[in-house]
Amino acid sequence: MNIFHTPHEMTAWSQAQRRSGKRIGFVPTMGYLHAGHLSLVAEAQRHADAIALSIFVNPTQFGPHEDFATYPRDEARDLALCREAGVAAVFLPAPAAMYAPDASVSVDESALQNGLCGARRPGHFRGVCTVVAKLFNIVLPDVAVFGQKDFQQAAVIRRMVRDLNFPVTIITAPTLREPDGLAMSSRNVHLNAKERQQALGLSRALASAADALRAGETSADTLRQQMRDVLEQHGLRVDYAEIADAETLSPVTTATPGNVALIAAHCGNTRLIDNRVL
Ligand code: AMP
Repeated sequence: MNIFHTPHEMTAWSQAQRRSGKRIGFVPTMGYLHAGHLSLVAEAQRHADAIALSIFVNPTQFGPHEDFATYPRDEARDLALCREAGVAAVFLPAPAAMYAPDASVSVDESALQNGLCGARRPGHFRGVCTVVAKLFNIVLPDVAVFGQKDFQQAAVIRRMVRDLNFPVTIITAPTLREPDGLAMSSRNVHLNAKERQQALGLSRALASAADALRAGETSADTLRQQMRDVLEQHGLRVDYAEIADAETLSPVTTATPGNVALIAAHCGNTRLIDNRVL
């Protein structure tokens, strides 16, 4: 497995792969890998010949009071998992290799990012779009795989690729969950035993909205309140509990199958997100 620390080395490898006729699949991550990340690698392997995975905790997508410093990191373990999964190249840049001190260009999506996490985390999606655009230019993938776990992120990236004509096919892969329903996340490592139980409120709240819609409840406000109630019963602090159109991410008034329920909630000091297409 190749391990690259500079954009130059990464791009040289990708260009060589392309010259030899290989299709490159790409999985961008922030590391502390879990089975959800590895499922994206497996999906990429179905669409490409050589898989590149990046591990970069991108400082520009964290707000000043967010968890950049405490975001979990374990490079040795991540590399072992990548090797086992058949990843061909890991890109592990230091922040200084990615951003010039006087960097002054960024990518801004201005519609899909306005609500949900974009509204609560100002500048977050500018950081995400900018780093993903840079990674696409460095890795030169044919196909890139993103998780539905970050539903708004996947929508924003698809829009960026469409509007800026990146020659990359975006694939979205389903959310991998623990057996009890908790969406896998690198941040779950921060949960203590009590919080780990409370965190089940997210998937249960989503399930309660799905069940209620199936039983005929179409008032989105009723579904939102029901999700809030479940979250609060689990001792979680609600950031948002939304029912939205799956394409535009705009809140809906009347819920219909195909809408998406999205939640962000604080569990102790950890902010968790989850979503489910109804
Ligand atoms: P992260 O390292 O958390 O930035 O995530 C990197 C990629 O993995 C993103 O495309 C995420 O949506 C995806 N991902 C994170 N958690 C999961 C999960 N539980 N199931 C599937 N994909 C995931």
